[in-house]
Amino acid sequence: MRPARALIDLQALRHNYQLARSASGSKALAVVKADAYGHGALPCAQALAAEADGFAVACIEEALELRYGAIAKPILLLEGFFEAAELELIDQHELWCVVHSLWQVEAIERARLRRPLTVWLKLDSGMHRVGLSPADYQAAYRRLQACGQVGKIVLMSHFARADELDCPRTAEQLALFNAAREGLAGEISLRNSPAILGWPQVVSAEPASDWVRPGIMLYGATPFGEPQALAAQLQPVMTLESKIISVRELTAGEPVGYAGNFVTERPSRVGVVAMGYADGYPRHAPTGTPVSIDGQSGRLIGRVSMDMLCVDLTDLPAAGLGSRVELWGKQVLASEVAARAQTIPYQLFCNLRRVPRVYCGR
Ligand SMILES: *Cc1c(COP(=O)(O)O)cnc(C)c1O
Repeated sequence: MRPARALIDLQALRHNYQLARSASGSKALAVVKADAYGHGALPCAQALAAEADGFAVACIEEALELRYGAIAKPILLLEGFFEAAELELIDQHELWCVVHSLWQVEAIERARLRRPLTVWLKLDSGMHRVGLSPADYQAAYRRLQACGQVGKIVLMSHFARADELDCPRTAEQLALFNAAREGLAGEISLRNSPAILGWPQVVSAEPASDWVRPGIMLYGATPFGEPQALAAQLQPVMTLESKIISVRELTAGEPVGYAGNFVTERPSRVGVVAMGYADGYPRHAPTGTPVSIDGQSGRLIGRVSMDMLCVDLTDLPAAGLGSRVELWGKQVLASEVAARAQTIPYQLFCNLRRVPRVYCGR
């Protein structure tokens, strides 16, 4: 069998969830959208089901996967419904629903729900993607409150630049949010992972009744480009690993891989690893991207191909055929690989394909 696989450490997932909750002092919705950022939504939700205050997903299809998997905790649809017809299923499965647009307010007013709907009313405080404008926010709140279909209303917004610790934009968004919600009762929810980790000042008077929405930090990756104290306590959940399936002895001056864009500078031992961009390893990871080979640090060389990539074994004489290679995990941080490949750990995880996921720490 091909040795490529993704180990998913559910104990680390629980550790990171607890860190999000204790660092914020708030209730925490575990964000498991996009198949839990490639980690497997149902197994991750099951691992957190006993302790999580709830879950958040991108759409009703993702929510139903959890409900059919017997996840009974609250589930929030982060973009609400895409068409009014979904309200029937939202009602039936008691899903919580973001409302970010006036057409959604109108659809709720027209609906005939059996149970009062829990709404998370989203303000556009400056990201300018989805969310009601400040001018519409209070009126939308009152319409929902008056329509007889809605129970609790949580006041929410989303930060665009919380991963930039010296950027004034987060404080500006917070000020705008506080102005727009003036006089409205309700729990609030603002913080994604970078805000939980890097913006402890973003708390309301009653953090214990508010909600944070940790995503990437649950999976143990830092959203920051630079070291950060709380992020250093995260435990990587996914280990992407494989094995060396071939070893080449080359003289100096020999090209390796497609396009020959790496040429040996000295007599070299080259290991071929069963891992490629079809597995989600980034094709743009350049020569020098770190890997761990039998626990020792090594480097990628040459161009990543679909099913294989090459590593330099010249300085690792004990490594050879069958050696274990970690592409990212507890030794090589996904955020480091992402930076080399000019992307973010979010995308590395979401791009994971073909490799079987193996769960431990249940
Ligand atoms: C995805 C998402 C999150 C989680 O973001 P992270 O940066 O992964 O923590 C939080 N809130 C909303 C609205 C989201 O869409």
